[in-house]
Amino acid sequence: MTDIPPTDIPVRVRPEIAGLPAYKQGGQAGADAFKLSSNENPYEPLPGVVAAVQAATAFNRYPDASAARLRSRLADRFAITPDAVHIAAGSVSILFQLAQATSGPGDEILFSWRSFEAYPSLATVAGATAVTVPNRGDGGHDLDAMAAAITDRTRLVIVCTPNNPTGPVVTQAAFDAFVAAVPADVLVVLDEAYAEFVTDPDAVRGEAVVAEGRPNVVVLRTFSKAYGLAGLRVGYAIGHTRVLDAARATGIPLSVTAVAEEAALASLDAEEALQERVAVIAERRDRLAARLREAGWDVPEAQGNFVWLPAGERALEVAAAFEAAGVIVRPFAGDGVRVSIGEEESLERVVEVAAATR
Ligand SMILES: *Cc1c(COP(=O)(O)O)cnc(C)c1O
Repeated sequence: MTDIPPTDIPVRVRPEIAGLPAYKQGGQAGADAFKLSSNENPYEPLPGVVAAVQAATAFNRYPDASAARLRSRLADRFAITPDAVHIAAGSVSILFQLAQATSGPGDEILFSWRSFEAYPSLATVAGATAVTVPNRGDGGHDLDAMAAAITDRTRLVIVCTPNNPTGPVVTQAAFDAFVAAVPADVLVVLDEAYAEFVTDPDAVRGEAVVAEGRPNVVVLRTFSKAYGLAGLRVGYAIGHTRVLDAARATGIPLSVTAVAEEAALASLDAEEALQERVAVIAERRDRLAARLREAGWDVPEAQGNFVWLPAGERALEVAAAFEAAGVIVRPFAGDGVRVSIGEEESLERVVEVAAATR
């Protein structure tokens, strides 16, 4: 306990927690700027969602702790039992729950890097050790190297597809081979936050993974991205009931509000409108990626609602140029810049800045 950083308060904080960077949200955009820093959906809520939220006014009551109606709707969709579905306040919450449920001091949580910013801290918060395997040169996961990095201390492996922030998917064949190589007592989480945007026919699909019914694989999805409910906080896991029970045991009770549950249910009713929007964003993404490549950027396969500019040491400088042009993007110092797919009108400006900074 000697390496607690000096603070102006006497409260003892676990040193590894005190060492964590404070959460930094994607930049907030000025009135005429495009906010392309948090992979949010540029559309307003799906038809029927605002009305459903406005009708959910019994705020004096606690919500249904297990979000039973939403679980049962999702269970039907995946042809599983409601116990094999777990709802939480965003799929990030479920990642933390699964880390707490599986891993403690001395245990290892393995993932590819660079990937989702929350992964390193969920290991730290659980008291476990984060072990990373570098992405392949094309920004995808090196699953062979990940399998080789599993030790008898590994408790949790996270596979992020499409990988945030670089963009490539893991293929179904590669995922199946990987899972076959992972010991049965190690949990594999397939983080599919951007599943709806995927157009690569070879990509792994949570539906296919769920159908295999492996007890050590959990699929994560969210209403934050394609469904556009980032501000209401609702995501879900599909997996073995016993594994999800362990996650439920670590979760903060009653975190999913009734409003969020209603909004998610109404969003599931608007499947056709969802598909239309997702198709527009995926097409916009492909068009933007092609133009950025024409401008000389080596953009990796983009399968989410974002593209990656491998700017390396110039990441902060490139992001500053975007900001000066009224486009808020997400830089990762020393590595690259992630640009979310936003409004159609943002594309021209993104291409201009990208061409000028190449
Ligand atoms: C956005 C995101 C999530 C989840 O977000 P929630 O809003 O907490 O549901 C999970 N994983 C990845 C890789 C993401 O990019």
